[in-house]
Amino acid sequence: MDRVSEIRANLSAVRAHIEAAARACGRDPAEITLVAVSKTKPPEDVRAAYEAGQRDFGENYAQEYAQKRAALADLADLRWHFIGALQSNKAKVVAGCALVHAVDRASVAEALGKRAAAIGMVQEILVELNVGGESSKAGVEPGALVPLVSAIAAQPGLRLRGLMCIPPPIADDEAQRGFFRRLREARDVLRARDAAVELLSMGMSDDYRLAIAEGATHVRVGTAIFGARG
Ligand SMILES: *Cc1c(COP(=O)(O)O)cnc(C)c1O
Repeated sequence: MDRVSEIRANLSAVRAHIEAAARACGRDPAEITLVAVSKTKPPEDVRAAYEAGQRDFGENYAQEYAQKRAALADLADLRWHFIGALQSNKAKVVAGCALVHAVDRASVAEALGKRAAAIGMVQEILVELNVGGESSKAGVEPGALVPLVSAIAAQPGLRLRGLMCIPPPIADDEAQRGFFRRLREARDVLRARDAAVELLSMGMSDDYRLAIAEGATHVRVGTAIFGARG
């Protein structure tokens, strides 16, 4: 199979799995956005997925994102998601994308908020929560979530839309689901105070079906669409 047909077939399979997982728990598949994670893959792969109807793409590294965005600027309705760990000095590159998934510090929120305000936009963001405890280092600790949410609220250039997590992979499905449940519960607490905080970015190639069962609104899938990364 040529590369374009391969990506097209993979996308169809992932979409079918998303639909089945949604229906199995009584959810509308249209509530779930598939973010195709294209990090380390060439722009041609993104273009192939786009031609197969995919519109949301996720990138992890600011430099690579900037290059791919420029190479694919002709695809006007393509939506970029920045899903990688973010440093304040990269806020300039990332501001303007559809959704920043992994804000985990007030300093990053401030840099992003200032940049968004400077270019006259409101940047939608998610906060990355550490649901895995000591086994994962990324994400804000649960005890520091509320102060971070307050720091975000102080930035007119930002709009908090939900939470994201990257739990450590574990073999036991029930335990894996437990991480996703924790993210949903944290989201529910925030949403009770601000209805805009509704999104849940959780689930990757190996576990997006479990994440959908726990309420994922965005699944970030790379390998299952584009194949293993080198
Ligand atoms: C790479 C990456 C993904 C995709 O992982 P796969 O296992 O290839 O599906 C999802 N989310 C984040 C934050 C990533 O860095």
